[in-house]
Amino acid sequence: MKQYFCDELNNVLSCFHDRIMSCCSGQIGPVYYEAYKGQKIDWKAFRQVKIDAFNMLNEENIDKSPCKGCFFLREKRPDDIISPTFNMINISHWTQCNCGCIYCARMQHSKGKITYKPEKSEYYDMLPLLKQLYKQELLDRKNLVASIQGGDISVLKEFEPMVKEFLKNGVNRFYILSNNIKYQPIIEKLLKNNMVDFTTSLDCASPDIYLKLKRVDKFYDSVNNLKKYAKVNNGIGVTVKYIVIEHINDNIEEITKFVNLMDDIGIKNIEFMIDNKYVMFTNLDETPLPSHYGELYRHFKKLCDEKNINLTIWSKTEYIINKYALKIVS
Ligand code: SF4
Ligand code: SF4
Repeated sequence: MKQYFCDELNNVLSCFHDRIMSCCSGQIGPVYYEAYKGQKIDWKAFRQVKIDAFNMLNEENIDKSPCKGCFFLREKRPDDIISPTFNMINISHWTQCNCGCIYCARMQHSKGKITYKPEKSEYYDMLPLLKQLYKQELLDRKNLVASIQGGDISVLKEFEPMVKEFLKNGVNRFYILSNNIKYQPIIEKLLKNNMVDFTTSLDCASPDIYLKLKRVDKFYDSVNNLKKYAKVNNGIGVTVKYIVIEHINDNIEEITKFVNLMDDIGIKNIEFMIDNKYVMFTNLDETPLPSHYGELYRHFKKLCDEKNINLTIWSKTEYIINKYALKIVS
């Protein structure tokens, strides 16, 4: 009988605001704890979720599996072993933020409210859960990647204590996403030790466009913080995103200014993205992507190549640009 396997299911634990689940594939796969609010966890039942989910990954049961049809499923290989630990933890259990990006997919939960001071998550505290996960030996202390991205880390009271807890118990690397309005000395420390991939979205090079996109007047705070982080390790470990939004920053002039600014600051990595919310809620077969997005991407690539900046493009963005703007795939 044909057996399937999923590396995400084997390795990833995602702590979202409304549930603890296996992956962030965009599909609601196996769930470890529904509507988690800090309750006492039955760890035997928790472990069993992964085993049961793998038991469904065969020809006979796949129709009943929450993984059915997922892009990440592949055929099982003889050397695939179900791991008792996770080597990646996604922490995204809060929605507060100190800005209000017009493309924010989490705004529906925070209701557009701007939070100025660090607060507890509106859903549950992560720190006690993290301590329990280590105690239960569910995290691979040697190879663990801790990905922290939710609302913004600047307004999460637990942010620094969580990072310290990871460092105390064993972690290999961090992936941290922030709007970068507030400088975080602990990120500087992680950059110094080459332990973090720090990503922020600036999306423009002009304060007025920043204000339109983020709805707070913090362009210079963000740029000044970026300058400090870029100096720590010659730009290594820092990535700046440009999320393109129609009628706001989708023009050659802004992209040129942005790449020049990144070059001046000493940024070595840029990521180009189409607004994910737009992609999720637009039927691209009926309302195809603006055709000039292909031109923008080419221009971006050319400028980055000239300045020796590494330009990455998220696989989903690449697929969409190729299909709808460059017409490379049909
Ligand atoms: S197959 Fe898809 S839905 Fe299931 S655990 Fe893997 S990534 Fe998640
Ligand atoms: S910084 Fe992130 S969480 Fe905050 S509003 Fe923007 S997209 Fe949403």
